[in-house]
Amino acid sequence: MDVELVYYPDPRLREVSKPVAQVDDELRDLVPRMFEVMYRARGIGLAGPQVGKGRRIVVANLQPESKKKDGEQVFVNPEILERSGQMKEEEGCLSLPGMYAVIPRAERVVVRYQDLDGKSVKREAEGLEAKLFQHEIDHLDGILILDKMTPADRKQWTPLLKELEEEFLEKSKKGKPRGGRPPL
Ligand SMILES: [Zn+2]
Repeated sequence: MDVELVYYPDPRLREVSKPVAQVDDELRDLVPRMFEVMYRARGIGLAGPQVGKGRRIVVANLQPESKKKDGEQVFVNPEILERSGQMKEEEGCLSLPGMYAVIPRAERVVVRYQDLDGKSVKREAEGLEAKLFQHEIDHLDGILILDKMTPADRKQWTPLLKELEEEFLEKSKKGKPRGGRPPL
């Protein structure tokens, strides 16, 4: 199973991911591949739909520089139970390469998720980690930072979005056989 980073405007980024009913071998196999993709792109978090897997799973490492396994976290079926405070910081997204914008977020969140052993965890997160949960859970619901930036920012990034849209179109054309017939 090979996984690749999915970029805007791939429609898979807009689907609502399905809850993980059970941590199975397929999921356990997917996790290290997601970390690989995340490290390669120099990210700190990655959600299922960003590798074309519509399942509610998120991987993260807030200290990717260390490349230490103990920084690696896996969140299965993560959800936000409470939000408090406000912050406005610049955010980027691996699926929207080159784009940065200030996105309003809660400063603290109470989250619940399962770990890879299926154990349920409920805890508080703040600052960067709170931002990460909000950003990645948005992905699981088909929401991108694009939807949350100001209209002025969105306008400013229109050329980049157009570029990404053209690249996507080119790629999907190449992937399709001429004449629309499936190859034998
Ligand atoms: Zn993202």
